[in-house]
Amino acid sequence: MKNLALHWKILIGMVLGIIWALLSSSMGWSSFTINWIDPFGTIFINLLKLIAVPLVLFSIIGGVANIGDPKSLGRMGGKTLLIYLTTTVFAISLGLILVNTVKPGKLIDEQSRIDNRINYEIWAASQGHTIKDGINYLHDPAFFKRAQEITELTKSDLKEVSVADKLEKAEKQKNTSPLQPLIDIVPDNFFYSLSNNGLMLQIIFFAIFFGVCVLFIPEEQSKPVLNLVNGVNEVFLKMVDLVMQAAPFFVFALLAGVVSKMAGDDIGKVVEIFKGLSWYSLTVLVGLLLMIFVVYPLIMKTFVKKIPYTGFFKAMSPAQTLAFSTSSSAATLPVTMECVEENLGVNKKVSSFVLPIGATVNMDGTSLYQAVAVIFLAQMHMIDLTIGQQLTVVLTTTLASIGSAAVPSAGLVMLIIVLNSVGLNPAWIAIIFPVDRILDMFRTVVNVTGDATVCTIIADGENMLDYHDTKNPTETFDLD
Ligand code: ASP
Repeated sequence: MKNLALHWKILIGMVLGIIWALLSSSMGWSSFTINWIDPFGTIFINLLKLIAVPLVLFSIIGGVANIGDPKSLGRMGGKTLLIYLTTTVFAISLGLILVNTVKPGKLIDEQSRIDNRINYEIWAASQGHTIKDGINYLHDPAFFKRAQEITELTKSDLKEVSVADKLEKAEKQKNTSPLQPLIDIVPDNFFYSLSNNGLMLQIIFFAIFFGVCVLFIPEEQSKPVLNLVNGVNEVFLKMVDLVMQAAPFFVFALLAGVVSKMAGDDIGKVVEIFKGLSWYSLTVLVGLLLMIFVVYPLIMKTFVKKIPYTGFFKAMSPAQTLAFSTSSSAATLPVTMECVEENLGVNKKVSSFVLPIGATVNMDGTSLYQAVAVIFLAQMHMIDLTIGQQLTVVLTTTLASIGSAAVPSAGLVMLIIVLNSVGLNPAWIAIIFPVDRILDMFRTVVNVTGDATVCTIIADGENMLDYHDTKNPTETFDLD
């Protein structure tokens, strides 16, 4: 057991956690699991996030300042953003192709879809929307009658809601500039950004700014700063090593908690939850698995010849299993960095810059899932989005995935923006909420794998990749 690779121990922890949760739910002990075991999972995520925020700060400062030449920094930065953007758009397109082919939302029974459509019409009218696919069923008396049957609303109610809502919207729009997202990246108080995990983009902005300025001051002054930054980085990595020693136990607690919360004292509930959403879940899963096992390996094979298919997975498995169990790429970041540096042989100069940015802005799994979710929700409400609207979905899912914090369920919350952008009801996120945690686990693995793939490609392009096939790569996490 002592010599077992870490990812196997984590996997065993995961399986035992699920078995425990199923057992405890059938014995009626799920509240015991939630009260006494699940908190250790939360402690684990807290510990990892605690390390992740300062690690992002110091590793980007170190990454930028250690590169030494502003020109190569600019080149690497440009390449990083371009490849991240390309993989995201590719993931969204894959999601759109899958959901338009499988049409999971149309596999729901006809009567519920009609009722869904009526509810949508009522909601859309209350928002003052013109119906996006051009048919406003409210003008159809038979349709309106049915609408009145299933809702309490009357036409005058709708008008009132609509006016109030429009006024509120106009007020909001008056106060925000289209450049607001850009303004949001530049912090006015750096300590505020640090104390709010969601403000990772501001931390990255500060770190790059700081790192670049270190490059421009005389060496005798920059040297001690760099030594300090590099030393602090080492301390954080040691903290990760320590926490990872207990990862299998923590992962047991995490999984036991997640499954117990879903099942309560009735395992049958889990099956029920999945029944209605099975085609949707399956479509998302197929997309995510294709990304992990086909798309990234193909990209890798095209750009980096020296890393074999299994070698990549062997190197990344600790980070992937951790991403799966924590559902947070921020919490996984410290381990992703170790795997990429120690097991894939990526030079720290590249990984310490590319990975923290990736964990924040590059979420291929999240964007693929958001694309599938929006079209699925539209389909189950009998709404066929036009090509133009689907292109809007590509744009907004790209932005929403960049804006999603790297924590559990962030993708679901950002889905609100995507639904809004094509005139759909943001409250529909409640429909897919029951299966979200499970899908979140898979999409976080995709997010982390995507970051590692891009980081390796960039390193290879900069001649900073030194890969050796090791027998047991996870020995990285030792205390020597
Ligand atoms: N949990 C994901 C992550 O941390 C984000 C999301 O899709 O909810 O990468």
